[in-house]
Amino acid sequence: MAQKQDRCSFCGRPESEVPLLLSGINGYICSDCATQAYKIVQENMGEKPSRSSNDFCLNDIPKPKQIKEYLDQYVIGQEDAKRYLSVSVYNHYKRLGQKKADDGVEIEKSNVIMVGSTGTGKTLLARTIANLLKVPFTIVDATVFTEAGYVGEDVESILSRLLQVADYDVKAAERGIVFIDEIDKIARKTDNPSITRDVSGEGVQQGLLKLLEGAKVNVPPKGGRKHPDQDYIEVDTRNILFICGGAFDGIEKKIAQRLNTHVVGYNSVQNQQKIDSKNLMKYIVPQDLKSFGLIPEIIGRLPVLTYLNPLDKIALRNILTEPKNSLVKQQVKLFDMDGIKLTFEPEALEYMVDKAVEYKLGARGLRSIMEAVMIDAQYDAPSGKVKKFVVTEDYARRQIEKSHRLIA
Ligand code: ADP
Repeated sequence: MAQKQDRCSFCGRPESEVPLLLSGINGYICSDCATQAYKIVQENMGEKPSRSSNDFCLNDIPKPKQIKEYLDQYVIGQEDAKRYLSVSVYNHYKRLGQKKADDGVEIEKSNVIMVGSTGTGKTLLARTIANLLKVPFTIVDATVFTEAGYVGEDVESILSRLLQVADYDVKAAERGIVFIDEIDKIARKTDNPSITRDVSGEGVQQGLLKLLEGAKVNVPPKGGRKHPDQDYIEVDTRNILFICGGAFDGIEKKIAQRLNTHVVGYNSVQNQQKIDSKNLMKYIVPQDLKSFGLIPEIIGRLPVLTYLNPLDKIALRNILTEPKNSLVKQQVKLFDMDGIKLTFEPEALEYMVDKAVEYKLGARGLRSIMEAVMIDAQYDAPSGKVKKFVVTEDYARRQIEKSHRLIA
């Protein structure tokens, strides 16, 4: 009679069918189940499992429509930017999951550049995407590159940040997302490089180029407690998704110039009628970025170009109430914690929007306006007896008029 085989106590397979069977006091576990258990433990303990890039299962990744729906919960409007971002992020993960291309078709990386005035939601979009995907994410400001002026070191500092966020899990960092803000600030001051040599702008762009196109970079492990004896950590940027954002102040003029030169002559009248001169940003093409002073190589490495609309009154009004963690919802929650039911009259909200427009502060300003309106109520209400508080237009106006800081 054949001897009874030992079996994995988890999957039940006999020793002959598993790569390795480990024995415990009262049972066995096979190497497959042990690996699986390890992953589950890591995920449940809130750690980031160090997966190789091939572990990606496309089914685990939200589809572009799902990504956009998620963004819709937090970001008002900006339909185009949301669609472009959703697709490029989805493609990015498809790319990470691709097996070694035996058909010769290799999906290339599609870094993103978002153009739009300050406070229109560029950072919010990038941050929200990273929250959804739960990948290492960091925001860096391109202006620091110009300040330090020493390209090599600065370029690496982006990756140091990413490594820190990834808790020095190099594999995780290598498929993370980096948001580079104020990319317009490193533009060359003139379109013609021979007239003014603008070393800082162009030099920084050259340094960044290496990173965007994918390179193995030696990164000093700042505070790298897991590698105390290691001088550098090598990070491959090939699979890091870079999302760049910038206000590109004045780029509308360049767009208008280009549109005007194009529409002169043939078919000009017809074309001119179609142009929405109030929002020229939506006509942006890579050539405009070049006129603004980005070098062609950088533009080539940021193939997904999208724009954000300026926020009009309706958008600002929606920003106050609609997002999942809108300013109004936050205030209501704060008061609710003290057992007070807080409500805003619609006219009060309209008034706050008008003030944001008047101060030219955009969405960024809504927060300080809200704080100025609510500060006294927040101070008094917790020690008072009222169980209800209604913010009327009159109340909001009085509070704003009292707050001299804002008016300055
Ligand atoms: P940008 O990066 O374009 O300068 P941010 O994304 O930092 O602007 O926006 C500043 C703040 O304004 C955000 O934290 C958010 O509260 C608010 N905000 C801006 N745009 C939007 C938007 N489209 N939807 C919701 N909130 C927005």
